[in-house]
Amino acid sequence: MFRSPLNLDLVLIALNNYHRVMSEITVFWFRRDLRLEDNAGLFHALSEQRAVQPLFIFDTDILGRLEDRDDARVSFLHDSLGFLREALREEGAELWTRRGPPLDVWKKLVREHRVRAVYFNHDDEPAARRRDEEVSGFLRGQGIEVKSSKDQSLFERDEVLTEAGRPYTVFTPYKNKVLKRLSEQDLKPFSWGRHRGHFHRPKSREELPSLGELGFTRSLLKAPPRRLSKALIRDYDKTRDFPALENGTTHLGPHLRFGTVSVRALARLGRELNATWLSELIWRDFFKQILWHHPRVVERSFRPEYDDIAWRNSRRDFERWAEGKTGYPLVDAGMRELNATGFMHNRARMVTASFLCKHLLIHWREGEAYFARRLLDYDLSANNGNWQWAAGSGCDAAPYFRIFNPLTQAKKFDPDGEYIRRWVPEWGSAGALKPLVNHDEARGRALRAYAAALKGAAV
Ligand SMILES: Cc1cc2nc3c(=O)[nH]c(=O)nc-3n(C[C@H](O)[C@H](O)[C@H](O)COP(=O)(O)OP(=O)(O)OC[C@H]3O[C@@H](n4cnc5c(N)ncnc54)[C@H](O)[C@@H]3O)c2cc1C
Repeated sequence: MFRSPLNLDLVLIALNNYHRVMSEITVFWFRRDLRLEDNAGLFHALSEQRAVQPLFIFDTDILGRLEDRDDARVSFLHDSLGFLREALREEGAELWTRRGPPLDVWKKLVREHRVRAVYFNHDDEPAARRRDEEVSGFLRGQGIEVKSSKDQSLFERDEVLTEAGRPYTVFTPYKNKVLKRLSEQDLKPFSWGRHRGHFHRPKSREELPSLGELGFTRSLLKAPPRRLSKALIRDYDKTRDFPALENGTTHLGPHLRFGTVSVRALARLGRELNATWLSELIWRDFFKQILWHHPRVVERSFRPEYDDIAWRNSRRDFERWAEGKTGYPLVDAGMRELNATGFMHNRARMVTASFLCKHLLIHWREGEAYFARRLLDYDLSANNGNWQWAAGSGCDAAPYFRIFNPLTQAKKFDPDGEYIRRWVPEWGSAGALKPLVNHDEARGRALRAYAAALKGAAV
């Protein structure tokens, strides 16, 4: 049959368009959600039934700010990406990794590939919000669809507000509202099994850059395994306050930080097994929504009048505290545990933080920065919220005149001195350090400094 040249052209154009559509990709951008299972954004991307290409960007803006070449978080991240890559290969997919400031990376990717849509999960830290606004603005300007999802939290942003429509600043009513609202639907896993054929299948394999190529060395600190014991969670309310118990808490912090576990899966266990454990996860959400509504807390006290405290900020005292050499055994045990392992038990975190702010009258931001550098589970909202809580300057903080006595705290929570002996072997011997400050004097000094700053302010 005769065909006009025009018809042939049309066929070619159609074929060309078909090819274009077929080679378009949807990118899923991994960030703080380094897992395949129960990942909200990944689920939504795969449900679109297009070729989904997973991507991770080594953000040089973040890596460049880290002070330690053997930073344990980078080793943890690198290992987690290795596991993620293997899991993706089992699905026939490849994890693309790129390095650079994210906007530059995206500009290059969009030049080199036909990107139809980009999916990612929310990250509500102020710097991440700026990054995402910038990248999303660029992508949308290129006609690329951008979709983001809640994944890190049970509830986020404006989802839980007071009856008057305002953000909560006190934990207990926030928690009660969350418990009232939390339904099966909120905790339902995002199972993408039936969409598993929708990954993009690149022709070539990609290797992860090595730690050395990223400018880091492997940390000697051991990351906690992603292991969850039901028995531990069942007993959590009885064991969590005793730092001598190595399995009194879950040590899942780094996994929650990098999203190698799903908070929904943990909350389901909490609902089933232990309300106190669930409550801790709600504290985590609480501080995230505080940071979302009040990003100024990164620089300032939540209660502005606390910025007027005349801190002593003694460098020598700070160093003694950081090295675990204050002569207060529980404080020193906590700091030495942190320096040696990248973890510190919550009770010791509360006591060491309070000691720095109140006994030594050193600004909470100094301590916050030290923890931020050392903690494997470092998280801006939790660290900032808890430091401000300890300093008294935060939301829902105890009144400033309630000052922890590190000696009675030790008697109560480490009655046999097991935790202290583990980290402060010289304790009780002639070689033990003399206390850096006298408790009663330091307490009096803190009360005077706080009262002077808060004069006239509601405390
Ligand atoms: C001064 C200070 C600084 C802190 N800095 C951090 C931090 O940078 N990152 C961090 O995740 N937690 C921080 N915490 C909270 C808490 O100490 C740790 O979450 C907890 O000790 C981690 O141990 P775990 O993983 O065994 O948690 P578990 O006790 O098993 O609790 C499970 C999870 O619940 C969350 N959680 C528990 N307690 C809190 C809390 N008070 N606030 C917010 N979330 C909580 C964490 O994600 C934790 O991993 C800080 C506490 C204090 C007092």
